[in-house]
Amino acid sequence: MTGGSPTPTGRPRDPGILGCRTKAEVLRFHLVHGIPRSYPGMGAILSERTAIEWTDATWNPTTGCTRVSDGCDHCYAERLSRRLLAATYCAQLPVVNTEANRANPFAVRTWPDRLEIPGSWRRPRRVFVNSMSDLFHRDVPEEFVRRCFQVMLGIGRHVYQVLTKRPGRAARFVERHRDLFPKGLPPHVWIGTSVERQSVDYRIHHLLAVPASVRFLSCEPLIGALDLSSFLTHRRAIHWVIVGGESGPGARPLDPQWARLVRDQCHARQVPFFFKQWGGRTPKAGGRELDGQDWNELPASRLSRTANIKGGDSTTSPTRCSNGRHDVRVRMSSAVGRSGGSGYVDERLERWPVGGRLARHERSPGTPPTQSHLPGRDRPRYV
Ligand code: SF4
Repeated sequence: MTGGSPTPTGRPRDPGILGCRTKAEVLRFHLVHGIPRSYPGMGAILSERTAIEWTDATWNPTTGCTRVSDGCDHCYAERLSRRLLAATYCAQLPVVNTEANRANPFAVRTWPDRLEIPGSWRRPRRVFVNSMSDLFHRDVPEEFVRRCFQVMLGIGRHVYQVLTKRPGRAARFVERHRDLFPKGLPPHVWIGTSVERQSVDYRIHHLLAVPASVRFLSCEPLIGALDLSSFLTHRRAIHWVIVGGESGPGARPLDPQWARLVRDQCHARQVPFFFKQWGGRTPKAGGRELDGQDWNELPASRLSRTANIKGGDSTTSPTRCSNGRHDVRVRMSSAVGRSGGSGYVDERLERWPVGGRLARHERSPGTPPTQSHLPGRDRPRYV
């Protein structure tokens, strides 16, 4: 992290809060970033809580991203980055250090200082990793991803919820770093992918290639019908499913039938189901009830308490898998060679098979990312 401007006392101001000028801005920043109560200079107004119901805190060792599919069209991380957090983020050099990226607050940046944050939290909690980014974005250096996982492995009192729209890279990462994960991801490191409609269900195939004790799906914003029946047939394949509607300006409505179908399919397979919100103008505009009740089920873990969730009902299911083995036979063929034509560059990159040869335009581990890694037709649309 680059240094911030000095305070009147001569102490360097923490650049993580630099963009916040009022208490309201700090609180909003904090809801996203999960800064500890003891964060220097911020006093007691800070806590590590987040407004996201299915987690206790957020941790953002990287920030910035690029859109990968139409589920990203109203990305709150991008919105926050370009408004409230622009000054903070632009004070830090982006990973791909071009003039355009330096001026782009949503370009990918790494924040090594934030690697210490989980260690400062004494009380065990569920930690949403990278609510403002995607840890497996192509621009996040392999070595930095490794450092993030070393923190997660080393500070095991928390449960880490790693959510990505790029599970293909996650699977390749775990495969390449077997020394860190000789038995797969441990039970306190969960891995999930976002699936907003059926057309991106190839991400579930990739997720299943990650040897993990807990794999989860975040179907938020759910913007199309989603049939999970072919993915829930394997026992212990998917351990948790979250459904939520979109919120904010231009929010696309969630059809109740889409939510019911996912809920019923989960229950038929004893997979915990969490209904986060209907969405609308604000996240809670439509409430959280589906068919007259809240759905707050969580996978079994020592942190799967729901006391802090309104109407919590602690329903659990077994989450063991055959540690270290790809316990589910992954059907990759349907994910390969689809001509999506969506215009979202990362989506095309992600459609390559996990176990296949590196695509011509894919970086090898440690190779600095450049535009030249992308074939001409795949140049980013949003960067
Ligand atoms: S992958 Fe996530 S963080 Fe990245 S643009 Fe899409 S919604 Fe935003």
